[in-house]
Amino acid sequence: MAGMNAVDDSKRDKARARLLSEIEREARDTESWTGRGAFSPRVMEAIKKVPRHDFVPESDAAQAYVNRPRSIGYGQTISQPYIVALMTDLLDLGPTDRVLEIGTGCGYQAAVLAELAGAVFSVETVKALAESAAGRLRRLGYRDVEVRHGDGFQGWPEKAPFDAIIATAAPERIPDALARQLKPGGRLVIPIGRPHDTQMLYRCVKGEDDKLECEKMLPVAFVPMVERIVDERKPLC
Ligand code: SAH
Repeated sequence: MAGMNAVDDSKRDKARARLLSEIEREARDTESWTGRGAFSPRVMEAIKKVPRHDFVPESDAAQAYVNRPRSIGYGQTISQPYIVALMTDLLDLGPTDRVLEIGTGCGYQAAVLAELAGAVFSVETVKALAESAAGRLRRLGYRDVEVRHGDGFQGWPEKAPFDAIIATAAPERIPDALARQLKPGGRLVIPIGRPHDTQMLYRCVKGEDDKLECEKMLPVAFVPMVERIVDERKPLC
């Protein structure tokens, strides 16, 4: 019904505006950790533009613009919007950059990256999630995103090198393949830690000498980056 949709849209616009100001506030509050008291206008514009309600389970759509992580089945989550904004900002993306993401999930972070970069390559280890995210991104018109079912520990060698790499699942240390597939001058944003322990978000830059210089950003809680998934239940998104 057209009338209903108009009401939904205006509610959604309000929720989205509230979300943007919450992200701004949280960026200010965490400046002593991250060194970034405000995110770039390009990043905030991308967060504003991506229809997050299309990336969460339908039963959850009313809550899509609340600044919290959401469950997507498999005990997996779709990241909190502030964390998506922070990690995206830390990548310092330019419009022609090639970006690799590990952990596609429902594809929300990939869509935000696609608003800012030239090409996005995203690897997801749960086949059903990779397939549904690829379909969703295609339907929403994100043509510069390629999703592949695979193991993120290997990166995506055929598409390397990358200007930026983001991991949205946490390994215990930086996978060699990711370090290798980054260009000199490239940025890597990654949570590191033991499963079920607090992790630390790192921002690393690859020097001309091929060494990674890493800085601690913020304690975070991501799902572990796993070697292999045996559970093949249907995802909720
Ligand atoms: N980027 C998503 C959040 C994904 S949650 C968003 O925007 O909301 C983390 C994802 O990492 C899960 O979908 C999980 O299945 C995936 N994952 C875990 N280990 C992985 C691995 N080794 N390779 C690729 N994906 C992995």
